[in-house]
Amino acid sequence: GIFVHGIETASNLLQVAGTISRETYLVIEPGVLVLVIFSGLLWNFGLVLMVIDRLNAELAALAMRDPLTGLANRRAFHERLDDELRLSEATQRPCSLLVIDLDKFKQINDVHRHLAGDACLVHVATTVTLALPPGGLLARMGGDEFSVLLPGKDLVAAAEIAADLVRAMRAARMRWGTTEFALTLSIGAAAWRPGWSGDALNADADAALYRAKAHGRDGHAVARDRRVISPEGPMPRPNLPRPGYEIF
Ligand code: GH3
Ligand code: MG
Repeated sequence: GIFVHGIETASNLLQVAGTISRETYLVIEPGVLVLVIFSGLLWNFGLVLMVIDRLNAELAALAMRDPLTGLANRRAFHERLDDELRLSEATQRPCSLLVIDLDKFKQINDVHRHLAGDACLVHVATTVTLALPPGGLLARMGGDEFSVLLPGKDLVAAAEIAADLVRAMRAARMRWGTTEFALTLSIGAAAWRPGWSGDALNADADAALYRAKAHGRDGHAVARDRRVISPEGPMPRPNLPRPGYEIF
């Protein structure tokens, strides 16, 4: 486009200056004019493609985010979980999952209304994000349920992180107007085992969450089978509690 516009300008100037004859100018001009029009069309077509591409990227990003908290949503979490489990399967690197549920959240909605409930969910997202170790992926799975993917962490490490999150939530009181909420979390932790799908890992963590709730909430539980995945394969760890033992 720039090149043919340059030729167009140069041929105009040369013709005005009398350097080229009118006949030569009329030979050059039609071809240059066609190229000017064609380059203009190409230019606009490229611009439209760029705008479409940018909109697509924005839509794809929106489809992966929870609009209230700005965290990854269920779809983004499952995509990442599948990727991490494929990596663990190939390298035997440990990988753990925390399933988090806010305690007695329905009461907050019922007593203080939905807007206060929304503020609590944002507060939980911020508190957990700040308390997470680097590399952990926090997502809002829906309602008052969150999940944390912990690549490279075995069950012992995951249980420690769960305990940290429970403590962080206890300490981070939330103000809503004149009301102060003491929010608490229940967490179920589970570690991936070779051959396991994301669903199996989720089911294990969910079962642990159920036990944390049944045990009185504001705490965490770990999945019953606590074999740790190491590069050498499953092995008992001396500092591990006995299988079936639950940490709260
Ligand atoms: P539990 O300790 O057993 O978890 O009790 P709970 O009251 O927290 O029970 P549950 O987890 O089943 O409650 C989830 C509630 O979350 C129900 C629904 O009213 C509320 N909820 C779901 N999505 C939203 C949301 O986007 N905003 C608000 N404010 N509330 C939501
Ligand atoms: Mg709840």
